[in-house]
Amino acid sequence: MTEIRVGFGFDSHPIEEGKKLFLGGVQIESPFGLKGHSDGDVILHALTDAILGALGEKDIGQLFPDTDEKLKGASSEIFLKEALRRAKEKGYEVVNLDCTLIADAPKIAPHKERIRENLSRLLGIPKERISIKGKRTEGFCKTEGIVCMCVVLLGR
Ligand SMILES: [Zn+2]
Repeated sequence: MTEIRVGFGFDSHPIEEGKKLFLGGVQIESPFGLKGHSDGDVILHALTDAILGALGEKDIGQLFPDTDEKLKGASSEIFLKEALRRAKEKGYEVVNLDCTLIADAPKIAPHKERIRENLSRLLGIPKERISIKGKRTEGFCKTEGIVCMCVVLLGR
């Protein structure tokens, strides 16, 4: 690998009672999901934006406007797949990623491995190169939403 690029992504969604919760493409047992035009998957959105950022491309909101009716309730995997397609087009592949989820609920630890395994499948890289960390805020964020920050390294 002779050229590397780093990208950073941030995303946040407020909770929505009764909606299914998806994190990293994995459905998580929870009384609430995340409000948003799509499935509200903060990990996939932050990761997609990190990859697009590393490539110097438009961001996720520009590529997939929330006014697009086709994207209503859509699985966020399609956003990630498009970012990966653009990376591949330029000859880049994902080297590793490090994501921090900020949420007081639900607990992330019991779901970490499933999320890493699913991201490993989606990205086509070993799960040892995927870090998912859950941080609680001791009430600062209460249970009003979930935030995700993600750093990704691309190489070619
Ligand atoms: Zn989002």
